[in-house]
Amino acid sequence: MSKKEVKGVILCPICKKGKVVAYNSASGESSIRCDICKNLVLLNYSTMTAERNEPEKGLFK
Ligand SMILES: [Zn+2]
Repeated sequence: MSKKEVKGVILCPICKKGKVVAYNSASGESSIRCDICKNLVLLNYSTMTAERNEPEKGLFK
């Protein structure tokens, strides 16, 4: 993997332990599952914030 410039780290808002590294190229919103608490988290790379997210029902079949 090539070295990328890190924009910052977003903490999981639920357990405050899970971390997501955001790179400079990241933007918009993304839903991830926290490695630590396994909750869904909605990340906003533009504001570098995160909030609890509900699963998108019907998206995965
Ligand atoms: Zn978490």
